[in-house]
Amino acid sequence: MTKTVGWGLIGASNVAREWIIDAIRAQPDNEIVTVLSSDNDRAANYAAENNIPHHCTQLEALLSDDRIDAVYISTTNELHKQQALAAAAAGKHILCEKPLALSLNDARDMIDACRRAGVIMATNHHLRNAATHHEIRRMLRDNVIGKPLFIRVFHANYLPPHLQGWRVNNAGGGVILDSTIHDIDTLRFLLDAEPVSVTAMTQSALFTAGDQEDGVMAIVRFDNGAIAQIHGAYSVKVAPGGIEIYSTDKAIVARNVMSQRAIGQVFLRDAEGEHEIPIVHENLYHRALRAFNKALRKEGEPAATGEDGLRSLAVALAIKEAAQTGCQREVQYA
Ligand code: NDP
Repeated sequence: MTKTVGWGLIGASNVAREWIIDAIRAQPDNEIVTVLSSDNDRAANYAAENNIPHHCTQLEALLSDDRIDAVYISTTNELHKQQALAAAAAGKHILCEKPLALSLNDARDMIDACRRAGVIMATNHHLRNAATHHEIRRMLRDNVIGKPLFIRVFHANYLPPHLQGWRVNNAGGGVILDSTIHDIDTLRFLLDAEPVSVTAMTQSALFTAGDQEDGVMAIVRFDNGAIAQIHGAYSVKVAPGGIEIYSTDKAIVARNVMSQRAIGQVFLRDAEGEHEIPIVHENLYHRALRAFNKALRKEGEPAATGEDGLRSLAVALAIKEAAQTGCQREVQYA
């Protein structure tokens, strides 16, 4: 590695503008070299607005630039695979947005290509970087509530107008691949357990132009016996986000923790009532980029690896299939 970590942004996206550009620049000796867009004017405007020195419209131009060590892929979901394969072939490390791809085979190809090329592959599952979720995981590992039996996840929002594009119109969209997939990753992280089977029902209530669901209720069984219920939606405006984890005697109750922002509260509930657990919040994306930098220095793993991205995708696809068929589905990871 050169001393400075040079980044290429593949995709002139909203998520990069709102979160990732700042998170990259928050890391010592990280700089953004180039942004790629399919449209030259958009690329130029985006570069100017975000103080990025270069822009381009050809992936080959970005990938042949020696100043670039790592790429952040945040294009629409159907493009992730071919861009990741090209980046790996060019020897660039990869932070890729979720869902990694639209099929398990494609996600597996991406991971294999990175392994063969000897580059890091990370998935941007931001929620597992929240200080709240780290604290919940610690509590579960320290056996503070005993064996977790049931989990309820509340992650239903109203999709703001500026995001009502490909999410509701295109085959890579829908609330399951967009949002519920984060809930799955978070549950895997919290429970240290793997989903084995799912059942689900979906809804298309408001955003009916495409054929993607805008609401879901899913139930996921884990290999430790726990059962989780997940509510996701684009169509409700005043639903709070949270997680509740129940054992026989106690519960962890976490409010406003399904957010991109460093907010939320965690409580331990027992027979005496609720006791708030102190949390030192930190920007979720800063933490993700810090872990990615450590991985670059061979001092650790990315916060969420490519394999984590594949596993959350496998569960999300099983949930979609369960809803479509009306049948319980075993999760297939290969
Ligand atoms: P955007 O819609 O902002 O960007 C996706 C692509 O759409 C861009 O690459 C861009 O193409 C094109 N695009 C964007 N704006 C315009 C426009 N005004 N006119 C024409 N084309 C446009 O997507 P998001 O930022 O919402 O999502 C990108 C990826 O990030 C997805 O994979 C999503 O799942 C993920 N995501 C992850 C989040 C997280 O916290 N982990 C949060 C939000 C999204 P081009 O580059 O060719 O210009």
